Amino acid sequence: MPASDLDQIVNLCKRRGFVYPSAEIYGGFRSSYDFGPLGSLMLRNVKEAWIRTMVQQRDDVVLIDASILSSPQVWEASGHLANFTDPLVDCTTCKQRFREDHLADPTVCPNCGAVGAFTEARAFNLMFKTTAGPVEGAGADVYLRPETAQGMFVNFANVLQTSRKKPPFGIAQVGKSFRNEITPGNFIFRTREFEQMELEFFVPPADGPTWYRYWCQARLQWYIDLGIPADMLTLRDHDADELSHYSAGTADIEFKFPWGWGELEGVAQRTDYDLKQHAAHSGQRLDYFDQATNERYVPYVVEPAAGATRTMAAFLLAAYDEEVVNDETRTVLRLHPRLAPYKVAVLPLSKKDTLTPLARQISATLTERYMCDYDETQAIGRRYRRQDEIGTPLCVTVDFDSLEDGAVTIRERDSMAQVRVPIAEVQAAVAERLGF
Ligand code: ATP
Repeated sequence: MPASDLDQIVNLCKRRGFVYPSAEIYGGFRSSYDFGPLGSLMLRNVKEAWIRTMVQQRDDVVLIDASILSSPQVWEASGHLANFTDPLVDCTTCKQRFREDHLADPTVCPNCGAVGAFTEARAFNLMFKTTAGPVEGAGADVYLRPETAQGMFVNFANVLQTSRKKPPFGIAQVGKSFRNEITPGNFIFRTREFEQMELEFFVPPADGPTWYRYWCQARLQWYIDLGIPADMLTLRDHDADELSHYSAGTADIEFKFPWGWGELEGVAQRTDYDLKQHAAHSGQRLDYFDQATNERYVPYVVEPAAGATRTMAAFLLAAYDEEVVNDETRTVLRLHPRLAPYKVAVLPLSKKDTLTPLARQISATLTERYMCDYDETQAIGRRYRRQDEIGTPLCVTVDFDSLEDGAVTIRERDSMAQVRVPIAEVQAAVAERLGF
């Protein structure tokens, strides 16, 4: 059973070193988190799994890494300076602040219950503003990017010229974004600093709807392939009143969080809005000349935009399991091997010097290909439980028989099955079980 309570994951993340509250020694910093030894590995795996599917396994998508600080003109042209706002209301009784569109009842304060005590809604711009250079004032204001997408649009012509791609093709990016969220919360679901994984896919205008349907299905399948049960996912079409003014259709991929359905990713038809805006503001030509048809056109864009940190929370929640084994509760993270922080744990049965050289040697071979843990403390049963709880798919145990028979035990996390494998075959046996 997946986690039914967010605290199960929050506690595990703290206890095992996935995610810590930021600046905890100072009492923390609201809704900011630090990714610890295991969390940083897992987050990297989430991003790598995305890049593998979206870039490596396709020949029509290239990757970029644009700067976080850039010209404010980007945000002028994209509409973020004028429109990237949330409706903000304050409760005049308890002074708490809410997003009006998140209130179950727009007249009742969810904190203190006051009725009709809200202020008028104000448009609150979500972009973080800072100052570039030593002189404050006009011209020095810059913004931390609130999405990675604009990096793809402003580099459209550069990539077109240098990559030899032509529509349909995509530009992908993974990286940090910042939003001054009014109500961050639910652990790493909504934070002010987070990571996104976005693709802008440029297509001939007439093909927009077909590619939109393609990307909705492809992206949904990505989560299923990485182990989220299909019944915890849904593809929800936006209602007309939810659509951005330029969007010709948007669907959200939602996950069944313990508090209800929540967005993991939005797939949007952005039409030619962004390229046209940047062309108009920059005076540069942002279009494509199709030599085959002798036609010049501004491509339409289909954008699958996912959150890496938010998605990591979903993967953890879906993978969490507790089961009773021999009257004891075993906590297991049934993470897909690609997402698991460690793929293998090498465990010498005892700390005795006699086992160490062989165990170290096996570990050295495996770490050439995989992120591995090496653990020689505590009883073997407790070490297995620890690896189960952090999602390590395989343990390789080196015991005293290993010195005689030249074999080790491979234990599988999910079934707890154990098999004896000759040392010379360990790497192949691990690869076969992991699937890579
Ligand atoms: P929401 O409605 O939850 O605020 P959004 O529709 O504004 O999200 P997008 O602008 O479509 O989000 O961003 C794409 C993805 O980036 C989201 O699906 C989500 O996974 C991630 N994301 C957006 N805002 C945050 C945040 N504050 N914290 C963590 N992830 C976020």
